[in-house]
Amino acid sequence: MTDALAPGSTIGILGGGQLGRMLAVAASRLGLKCHVYDPAPDGPAAEVSARATTAAWDDEAALTAFAEAVDVVTYEFENVPAASLDLIESIVPIRPNRRALAVSQDRIDEKDFLRDLGLATAPYAMVDDAASLDAALERIGAPAILKTRRFGYDGKGQARIMAAEDAAAALAEMNGAPAILEGFVEFSHEVSVIGARGLDGAVACFDPGENRHEDGILRETTVPARLSASQRTDAVLLAAKILTELDYVGVMGVELFVTPQGLVVNEIAPRVHNSGHWTQDGCLIDQFEQHIRAVAGWPLGDGARHSDVVMENLIGDDIDRVPEIAATQSALHLYGKAEARPGRKMGHVNRLTGPAR
Ligand code: AMP
Repeated sequence: MTDALAPGSTIGILGGGQLGRMLAVAASRLGLKCHVYDPAPDGPAAEVSARATTAAWDDEAALTAFAEAVDVVTYEFENVPAASLDLIESIVPIRPNRRALAVSQDRIDEKDFLRDLGLATAPYAMVDDAASLDAALERIGAPAILKTRRFGYDGKGQARIMAAEDAAAALAEMNGAPAILEGFVEFSHEVSVIGARGLDGAVACFDPGENRHEDGILRETTVPARLSASQRTDAVLLAAKILTELDYVGVMGVELFVTPQGLVVNEIAPRVHNSGHWTQDGCLIDQFEQHIRAVAGWPLGDGARHSDVVMENLIGDDIDRVPEIAATQSALHLYGKAEARPGRKMGHVNRLTGPAR
């Protein structure tokens, strides 16, 4: 374990939500400390971390003090401003690296990257105004989806275009932000692969999970996913290709559409991923520990799965069902958020459905 962080070292985490919380819990099991940086006070991650800094992304003094207090920095939130990262990186390594972050922050750069790797994506075109949207629709056709290039999540910043007449309303929804038009992919279902790459270049992927969304938000992930043996292999190989090309260190989520023509990459997330939460109870080493191992320079777990799992997200008022769920033999993971707003991820539950098939 050359370059490996010794127990007692500190991992800095940018972003203080539930992903940070579960990373910090995993790190603590390995005897590592976490220091969370987030502009909002009292987030889910700060509650379980050794240290927390509450400061703005442009607070240079706070960023410097944070970077000097940790041994490596990772993130659970992709939209940290580039200038903050420049400052941090001048003091301490950031893993996964900046290129992975840059590629995934911009949907056009992401699609260009995937296309250059020879991977299938939806047809796409850059849209900045009504004229470029007309040209894009002419080329790609309807139905299509207009999305903001940056800062989209959980289906936000997206508008469907079923026919050319919908174009103006869809463009208005972008609020002047640079956008991408994507052709609508006729998929049978959606799956994701959670892959990891270590500092030594070793790659380990978890089994693909099958994802069901409601209102653009992940509702449920089931493993094993409905995939043929060759699709399963394809999914893992393409994730490994992405990880290796980016010289990635850490865990990444790769979202895929399953189509009769093969797997189409929807998007990549350079971090632990909601669709990988099943690993907490389906694997000996879960995605959070895997990410901590990677960024700490430790050997990776092999990704093996011991159980079939259905992971259900608890969103908004679902939190009221906790007493009932707690009375069943299932693994509850709650994020400690005080207020249950509609669409807010409050926790999740992993139900084991049998030994791994
Ligand atoms: P995204 O934020 O890009 O992951 O999109 C959220 C959800 O919208 C995806 O999980 C899909 O269900 C759907 N979606 C996004 N892009 C496309 C596309 N090009 N074709 C069909 N469905 C899509």
